[in-house]
Amino acid sequence: MITLGIETTAHTFGVGIIKGREILANVKDTYTTESGGIIPVQAAEHHKKVKEEILNKALKEASISIKDVDLISFSQGPGLGPCLRVGSRFAAKLSFENNIPLVGVNHCIAHLEVGSLVSDVKDPILMYVSGANTQIIAYESGKFRIFGETLDMGVGNFLDSFARFLGIGFPGGPKISKLAEKGKKFVKLPYVVKGMDISVSGILTNLKQKVEKIKSGKADYTINDLCYSVQEDVFSMILEVTERAVFHCGKKEVLMGGGVSCNKRLQEMTRIMGEEDGLNVFIPPNNLLSDNGVMIAWLGYKMFNALKDKGEDINKLIIKSSKEVESIEIKPYERTDEVKVYWRN
Ligand code: AMP
Ligand code: MG
Repeated sequence: MITLGIETTAHTFGVGIIKGREILANVKDTYTTESGGIIPVQAAEHHKKVKEEILNKALKEASISIKDVDLISFSQGPGLGPCLRVGSRFAAKLSFENNIPLVGVNHCIAHLEVGSLVSDVKDPILMYVSGANTQIIAYESGKFRIFGETLDMGVGNFLDSFARFLGIGFPGGPKISKLAEKGKKFVKLPYVVKGMDISVSGILTNLKQKVEKIKSGKADYTINDLCYSVQEDVFSMILEVTERAVFHCGKKEVLMGGGVSCNKRLQEMTRIMGEEDGLNVFIPPNNLLSDNGVMIAWLGYKMFNALKDKGEDINKLIIKSSKEVESIEIKPYERTDEVKVYWRN
């Protein structure tokens, strides 16, 4: 069975193709800016521009034609409305034109479920650290629940904002990571954990003040030291709430997800926590950590099979008219725990 997944919640337009659990293609193109953050309408324009090309590249990489596809899945939410609309209509149109069943999936849960495609992780705490989102998620009592999250910015957006202030470009996370390697001195920064949540906006303000101090020649630390310190500080905050969630839920596994999880130091710190606490830490490859179509395909595949097992009429999932294509539902504000989880026992 071949599943094609389409990801468009934010900056990335991605198409993933899987055959059973074998990955045949994972192609994406990401909207970037020279300065400033993501502008939803522009990101949606980007997706419109590249969608056919990315689809064709993915089909070519998988050595199949669209006629070979048995199921299409798309990220239905949460995310930026204009971006979700491009992906959902594109997916619905493919379903309509080629008579293929279609399912919409939750993006955050897809980050968690993709772990089981590439490893034998079963029931983890997901440490989901991306641009817009930072959440600690786990399956408990029949639903995926958010045990902790950022109260303001996602950690990726926070790192990108700091990088923008430093004038080192976007995406900032990898650049800060490089400078951090040259940092020698730990500079104390605010450490903001409130219950199970974290907050980073105050740290950003504090960092900006410290950069001004460096510029005026009054600081006994460097930009590299600040990059090193911000990683130690904020990553520790994330790990503190993750660790507490692990013990609260009695889980034995931690899975990493989201673009910031590509960070080598965050991976190292998470592994150390795993060793100290006797937990299995799972880190998917980078191209499955950041937004991608494969995770959307995999969750769609799981949902579809569960529907079939329940005896649902699969033909109902095929889009029947161009009117239906236009009115396909998106869920920009869908919360992880609103999703009915019928594909897990
Ligand atoms: P996502 O939204 O999951 O695709 O992740 C994008 C975010 O990941 C951006 O904010 C990047 O700055 C951040 N990012 C990517 N690579 C790294 C890295 N090596 N270290 C820290 N942040 C990173
Ligand atoms: Mg994501």
